[in-house]
Amino acid sequence: MRIDVLTLFPEMFEGVFGSSILGKARDKGLVELHTMNFRDYSTNKHKTVDDYPFGGGGGMVLKPEPIFGAVEDLLQKAQADDGAPARKPRVILMCPQGEPFTQRKAEALSEEEHLVFICGHYEGYDERIRQHLVTDELSIGDYVLTGGELPAMVVIDSVVRLLPGVLGNESSAVTDSFSTGLLEYPHYTRPAKFRDWDVPEVLLSGHHENIEKWRRRQSLERTLRRRPELLERMELSKKDKEWLRELKERSTGESD
Ligand code: SAM
Repeated sequence: MRIDVLTLFPEMFEGVFGSSILGKARDKGLVELHTMNFRDYSTNKHKTVDDYPFGGGGGMVLKPEPIFGAVEDLLQKAQADDGAPARKPRVILMCPQGEPFTQRKAEALSEEEHLVFICGHYEGYDERIRQHLVTDELSIGDYVLTGGELPAMVVIDSVVRLLPGVLGNESSAVTDSFSTGLLEYPHYTRPAKFRDWDVPEVLLSGHHENIEKWRRRQSLERTLRRRPELLERMELSKKDKEWLRELKERSTGESD
């Protein structure tokens, strides 16, 4: 996979792209990570990228020319490098008004060959960028940050960790929260007794079937207590449903 990030602050990505799992994935050649300052594509001599909004009002608006110029240059180069016409990249605009980012979206994006992220600043983007250049608009949550860099890092991190070979066996994505549709079960490690607190006995039993059953039940319980709406979207087995019914009965009993 190749990822290009269009930003006014490429230096913000140096630490994130060079460290931890992303850094290793890059070193192993599993992903190519590039940043590009779209100020370099400004068409005026002062190299400005923003201007006052038509119609008045506060805040500055990102101009279309630098962002169109940067994306089009990138696409041309990608095609020239590949020789053959490459699959069209996804051009992703980071914005609080976009589609809420989820694990399902991360999984879908991890199937792509080329992702281009556009990081905004100021009041917003010229609407023609949204209308004629981008394929996706993504929001990382219902709050407003100063720029699209942190949101782009969030999305890139969650996509890259899903690429084959990026995570070792020690940290598989398969059982992660949301991948299964449920929140993940609780984890424990050594020591088996810490202060007065013991690890659940079943985890020390070596009985794999019982451990799996305990984990499934814990996952269901945690999801029921913390994010019950996730259960509505899931296909549950008869046993899962029985367990959830039992939990609900228990909590009604407790509240009586
Ligand atoms: N005025 C805009 C609005 O109300 O939708 C907010 C602009 S915000 C100050 C500047 C930039 O930060 C956005 O263009 C976007 O790139 C980024 N940003 C802020 N919050 C975000 C979020 N929740 N998800 C994704 N990007 C966000």
